[in-house]
Amino acid sequence: MEKEKLSFWQKKEKELIYKRKNAWEKISDKEKKQIFDLVEQYKKFLGYAKTERLAVEFIENFAKQNNIKYFKNKEKAICLIKKGRMSIKNGVRIIASHIDSPHLDLKRIPIYEDSNLCFLKTHYYGGIKKYQWVNVPLSLIGVVIAKQSRKININIGEKENDSCFVISDLLPHLANKQMKKDAKEVITGEQLTAIAGNIPVDDDKISEKIKLYTLNILREKYDIAEKDIICSELQLVPSFAPRDIGFDKSLIGGYGQDDRLCAWASLNAIKNIQTPKYTSIVVFVDKEEIGSVGNTSADSYFFENIILELSKDEDITKQVKTRDIFKKSLCISSDVAMAIDPNYADVFEHQNDALLGSGVCIGKNTGWGGKFQGNDASAEYMSKIIELFEKNNIAWQSTTDGKIDEGGGGTISEYFSKFNMDVIDIGACILGMHSPFEISSKIDLYNLVKAHRVFLENL
Ligand code: MN
Ligand code: MN
Repeated sequence: MEKEKLSFWQKKEKELIYKRKNAWEKISDKEKKQIFDLVEQYKKFLGYAKTERLAVEFIENFAKQNNIKYFKNKEKAICLIKKGRMSIKNGVRIIASHIDSPHLDLKRIPIYEDSNLCFLKTHYYGGIKKYQWVNVPLSLIGVVIAKQSRKININIGEKENDSCFVISDLLPHLANKQMKKDAKEVITGEQLTAIAGNIPVDDDKISEKIKLYTLNILREKYDIAEKDIICSELQLVPSFAPRDIGFDKSLIGGYGQDDRLCAWASLNAIKNIQTPKYTSIVVFVDKEEIGSVGNTSADSYFFENIILELSKDEDITKQVKTRDIFKKSLCISSDVAMAIDPNYADVFEHQNDALLGSGVCIGKNTGWGGKFQGNDASAEYMSKIIELFEKNNIAWQSTTDGKIDEGGGGTISEYFSKFNMDVIDIGACILGMHSPFEISSKIDLYNLVKAHRVFLENL
């Protein structure tokens, strides 16, 4: 067939106007199979690592199996290191992501009974829409530290035949008043109490019969009493496993993809690189969802201490030299971005926000309002990154955080940029962020894995 001749302005259009593509368009069947196989590995991590502690456990085992050096911070943060050919005096390459996700923490004294039911009181963690957490099967995962530091691991709800927990919503028949409420108040924080039992002890001298029956189960199974639960970290998280979405199975649905998607991509990347030129460090931190506070967050001295540790290996001990290492380092803050949801088109900025399936998201800015509390990657660094991606055939798109003043979002980038290194936000976009079932595109994950890898190997 004869090629249609382009007009003068059609040629100019091709040359001058930037258009995003759907990254699936140019994927061969062979490559599609590779992508789908890769995603199966990701789904195993996502389905297992539903708390920060389980994520750290998974990553630590992964490091051991693959003979990768690592440092762990209090069971809730970890970083993996592959030494480069050059001294760390020349700087290092860092990919940082967070492994905490919004969830429901049990309160210190959580168990009570009412109306023939036993309940667990919770306090939500992170920015959630509370009404999304009702009628969802929930697993109880975490640790109780009993007397003499005896650590009891609890994990109920993850196996197919386990029982689960659930927060009930009001039936529509009696919801006239509820349905008129502001969405923030439809389900309140104190109403996020999960059903945990129905059987009482058979003794009329006992006032809290169902609570006692429940506590007796915990005594028999874990040898703990109510007081022990005061020293615990127990979370309720969605029970369901990650699933494919769509006739074409192109999308992934699952809990905690913010930010375990990016975490897994960097884990895969560091495993697959050979000895890099610069030392590669992938960092996994906690507490991003509540503002990077505390000793397991990106704002703790954990990361700085790692550089100091590595400096010792090379006999670089003076503080000033550590600062020089930071200055010469490059960092990707890898977190998920907001994908345009056409059902809520009016809050998105369609020319600048991200599309599912258009490749990795590169965010120059984070923050809110007049770019407050965010990071700003330099145009120079951004250009270097894009050139690298194009050279390596990586689908990418630039992204922002919705229409101006609709809201906004932050990442951990600012906690690395304070060290005076170049930092840029690069991740994949998702739909339904912070919901119990977040949605990503397999092609974006695939491109992110490649992007992380070329960053560590070639930049
Ligand atoms: Mn995040
Ligand atoms: Mn988040």
